[in-house]
Amino acid sequence: MIYNIAIDGPAGAGKSTIAKNIARELQFIYVDTGAMYRAIALHLLRKGADGGDSEAVASACRSAEVSITYRGGEQIVLLNGEDVTSCLRTEEVSRMASVGAANPAVREKLLSLQRNLAAAQSVVMDGRDIGTTVLPGADVKIYLTASSEARAHRRYLELKEKGESCDPEEIRREIEERDLRDMNREISPLRQAEDAVLVDSSNMTIEEVTAELLRIFREKTGTGGSV
Ligand code: C5P
Repeated sequence: MIYNIAIDGPAGAGKSTIAKNIARELQFIYVDTGAMYRAIALHLLRKGADGGDSEAVASACRSAEVSITYRGGEQIVLLNGEDVTSCLRTEEVSRMASVGAANPAVREKLLSLQRNLAAAQSVVMDGRDIGTTVLPGADVKIYLTASSEARAHRRYLELKEKGESCDPEEIRREIEERDLRDMNREISPLRQAEDAVLVDSSNMTIEEVTAELLRIFREKTGTGGSV
């Protein structure tokens, strides 16, 4: 039996942390679709493509082949065969990912990769349009959100822990700008699927959110203690 869990929501809502926890618990594969958009963004940046020029973005993205593999349970992203996983989490890449993600050629490129992964095995897939577009038939759909203050604060703590200097206000601005773009683009905008369960994690710990999502999964699929 193959199960698909879709988790969508704005930046910094904790999707990847929670999705990884659930995937580990249920022994499913975790698929981080944001990392795929980030890999394309890295390609666009390397090519010097102007994000505002949709023809240039579509043309540059034609020479990007993105695939993923797993090492020690961690998702590895390959861009034209090169492991770029460690290059994807910069603010520059975040911004370009969101700009590039509004381009139909970029989305089309990644859609079949994402669907094929989910057809082959049980997955917990996170992103912006998983429940609405990529896996409309997913067994469980979650819309995970939190206040922009809570999301910016988490991102700030994350960067501080990594020893990176950052301004909390700047982080909040960047997150809000990215959400606005992701929610208002024409193609596959970020929105809650009609049949998704809304979880607001503003005042919840990671453990509480993980437990809540596992409970929802078991309730929806009728799988008692384990899968
Ligand atoms: O989730 P993450 O922050 O890594 O995603 C980076 C960007 O990729 C998002 O801001 C969004 O623009 C884009 N994205 C998307 N659809 C997805 C996953 C990510 O448009 N399914």
